[in-house]
Amino acid sequence: MTQITLYNTRTRQKERFEPIDPNNVRMYVCGPTVYDRAHLGNARPVVVFDVLFRLLRHVYGPDHVTYVRNFTDVDDKIIARADESGRPIDTITAETTQWFLEDMGALGALEPSHMPRATAYIGQMIAMIEALVEKGHAYAAEGHVLFDVNSYAAYGRLSGRSVDDMIAGARVEVAPYKRDPMDFVLWKPSTPDQPGWDSPWGRGRPGWHIECSAMAHDLLGETFDIHGGGNDLTFPHHENEIAQSCCAHPGSDFARVWMHNEMLQVEGKKMSKSLGNFFTVHDLLAGHDGQPGIPGEVIRFVFLSTHYRKPMDWTSEKAREAESTLRKWRGLIAGVEPAPSPAPEVIAALADDLNTAGAIAVLHRLAGEGDAAGLKASAGLMGLLSDEMGAWTATGGADLAAFAEKLAALRAEAMQTKDFAQVDAFKAALTAAGVEVRMSKAGVELVPGAGFDPAKLEGLK
Ligand SMILES: [Zn+2]
Repeated sequence: MTQITLYNTRTRQKERFEPIDPNNVRMYVCGPTVYDRAHLGNARPVVVFDVLFRLLRHVYGPDHVTYVRNFTDVDDKIIARADESGRPIDTITAETTQWFLEDMGALGALEPSHMPRATAYIGQMIAMIEALVEKGHAYAAEGHVLFDVNSYAAYGRLSGRSVDDMIAGARVEVAPYKRDPMDFVLWKPSTPDQPGWDSPWGRGRPGWHIECSAMAHDLLGETFDIHGGGNDLTFPHHENEIAQSCCAHPGSDFARVWMHNEMLQVEGKKMSKSLGNFFTVHDLLAGHDGQPGIPGEVIRFVFLSTHYRKPMDWTSEKAREAESTLRKWRGLIAGVEPAPSPAPEVIAALADDLNTAGAIAVLHRLAGEGDAAGLKASAGLMGLLSDEMGAWTATGGADLAAFAEKLAALRAEAMQTKDFAQVDAFKAALTAAGVEVRMSKAGVELVPGAGFDPAKLEGLK
């Protein structure tokens, strides 16, 4: 069996991965707060852990991996969005959840085994908070329940920070009801117009961190194999998840391996609305600010060309290169059955702490050798070159033959009238849509070229 090694944030080293139960390898990844479109940075962990999910399924069998990724559907940002927009919270969260699934599906991400919504687990959260109060790790004060950070000696171990460092580095909310400024909220009161649930501490709602502990426990058990997320979650979110879970279930490990992906930049700069380089996954897919849409497979390829523990720089140059590579590869694999299994070197690269860049280098080699069957099987393990993802290199539903016929008819007509204006205009429109126009005595041939955009053909019918 393939030996996987993974870098564990908790031990700060690469370790051999030994699942607790090879018949049920269990992974939890923190999911989105659903109030707005996912931006490009939100998509990175989705793609990274999708590759890990695929690798685990390959090694242990598709029925022997359980992957949980949550939806945070109760949060102050969601409440604020509902207030601003005057739309009901349920409508906002349902719509945003659907957008997220569509956008991530377009990037080739498989749906996790479970996608729990926080509001469906309020009972489990209350039970966990009660257990923490009972064991002396949490206290109620002024309608809030707070986790007592000083009751857990290992607090800060994941991020390797002392409590003093954490206070200095974090935006710690000082509140009169806290015993220590680092204590964090497990439960807080809701006003009558805010979403709330009855609890032993009055009507209220959970703090953010408790949901992951409660849902992971319910769906994966006290101790499971892998916990993932962006490295911006290491502190305080993951530190708090560990504190809650390990204190509620003494003797358990919660998650054995902690994996964190690095952040994403755009054209060498931090993505921000003020720099004008902030865009959502949907913007990129659909096209924005006059830019044509970028196929999901191209976005995925660009993501995977950088190792997950390195900062990822999204550039339009990389997207162009990825598009031309994928177009070439798709030409090579057209009509070819995949090999029975991926190339061992691709499996080995992915098994080495998800070395996706190394795996892509092997794909280039296979393509160079003309091994189309091996290329298709190996790329498939990374969620690339699948039939479902390939519509963009085909004609995207556009019937190029019909356009070729029309162009040929216009040309025949122009031969008679000696007026080629219509032919030139039609040719120019096709070229603008990324279609290569080849005209000869034998006839007209249209081929989708680099930057082919079937949407631009819509008006030409
Ligand atoms: Zn979480």
